[in-house]
Amino acid sequence: MNAFSRRGACPALAAPMQTGDGLLVRLNPVAGGLSPESLIGLAESALRHGNGIMEVTARGSLQIRGLTAESAQLLATEVDALGIAVRTGVPVETGPLAGIDPQEIADPRPPAEQIRTAVEEAGLTQRLGPKVSVIVDGSGQLTMDTLTADVRLAATRTDAGVRWRVAVAGDGQNARPLVTVEDDAARDIAVAVLRMIAEKGREARARDLSERQLAYLAGWHSVAPPSVLPDISPTRGEIAHSRSPSPISMASEGGPAPGLPISPLVGEMSGRTEGGAKELRPIGIFDLAEAGIALGIALPYGSMPADKIIALTQSAITLDTTEIRLAPGRALLFLGQPSSANRALQHTAATLGFVTSPADPRTRIAACPGTPACASGRIATRDIAETIAAENADSLDFTLHVSGCAKGCAHPGSAALTIVGGENGAGLVVNATAKALPAGYRPGYDAARGISRVAALIRSTRYQGETAAACLTRLGPAAIAEAYRQE
Ligand code: SF4
Repeated sequence: MNAFSRRGACPALAAPMQTGDGLLVRLNPVAGGLSPESLIGLAESALRHGNGIMEVTARGSLQIRGLTAESAQLLATEVDALGIAVRTGVPVETGPLAGIDPQEIADPRPPAEQIRTAVEEAGLTQRLGPKVSVIVDGSGQLTMDTLTADVRLAATRTDAGVRWRVAVAGDGQNARPLVTVEDDAARDIAVAVLRMIAEKGREARARDLSERQLAYLAGWHSVAPPSVLPDISPTRGEIAHSRSPSPISMASEGGPAPGLPISPLVGEMSGRTEGGAKELRPIGIFDLAEAGIALGIALPYGSMPADKIIALTQSAITLDTTEIRLAPGRALLFLGQPSSANRALQHTAATLGFVTSPADPRTRIAACPGTPACASGRIATRDIAETIAAENADSLDFTLHVSGCAKGCAHPGSAALTIVGGENGAGLVVNATAKALPAGYRPGYDAARGISRVAALIRSTRYQGETAAACLTRLGPAAIAEAYRQE
């Protein structure tokens, strides 16, 4: 297994992850959202203890980076003092508008909570790998379709009433459907899937389940669940129920905070999209009927200096925002302010450099921190991305990935075009991941000009009505690489 293929643990507060710019912690508040004051408190902690960069990931987790082992402990203590309870255990995710979206078919929070409880009671958390996750989607305005998960439940209307579609190993489009059942059965099947994964070991995922197991799960609703599942053994008491003490709770109880276990080095930095899901765009205004409106504002490339997050949040407080939710798609949802305040909040956000329109070309670009933030970076990814977004917005109807090195943190999956930093400068990879062999190179400082050459080729050869993405496919890697290399 090489350095690029190793999977890292999720850097929860209790186990920060080693990256190119120090330690990183990733946290998800247990409550649906944060008060604006709490978000400001978190951002101030990030400034005090980290390098001042905050991120919201593709799955809607908050990341604080640039920490040391000591400062990560101080941060954990301050998070606790702010009264922010953070999620631990197997992620069981619901959408950012869960429970307040009038377009939801069903409220996903009760089944999600039942699954969390069942997972804890079964002692599965310690037996499952850190990337195993569950999605419970109420199928409202902001669906979770674009995020991958090992188990996914999606509310659906049937002739018999509201049911849950249960699927495994994928996103809303490519996950393998198992069955559509009532909520109790859906919860039981979800837990059964997790048990089967746990039986295969901590490296296992739902994609590793056998056909026999999947067939059994698909037939669950028509048979009484046996006490021992096929293809898996009974647990024989080997499950460890004990949980390591949280440094946060110990500190709050007045005891010394224990040393933080640091997750192993997994490459140099985590700008990862936690599974390579396609981007969600919870940007703009979402009508929540009685609950008012939610205004979605995204962080460009998922990251912003903490002082800008503080400035935006202070503005939101003056406009009567009462809650801020983290949203998949690298965004923040502002709730509670009157509709009349949205324009002012969007204006402030745009002035600070946030993304306020889903049409913003930066939403089409995935860019890791690159140089100088990451020790492994070979190119200034964010500068390159900003130049391309400013100069070639008309051609960006495809995903462009700008990666500081071949690790490809910001977009582990394949992209139409990837600029990747390496020994030979900025390579251009066509329709593959950052790990693939580039089709052509330019000096790193000059990469944006290479993309301008490709954009010019698209403009000059595109058929009427043809998308830039389709045009790229038609042109093929050789022609694209030749354009990229042109002076
Ligand atoms: S892909 Fe980017 S963030 Fe990840 S290790 Fe390479 S330079 Fe660092």
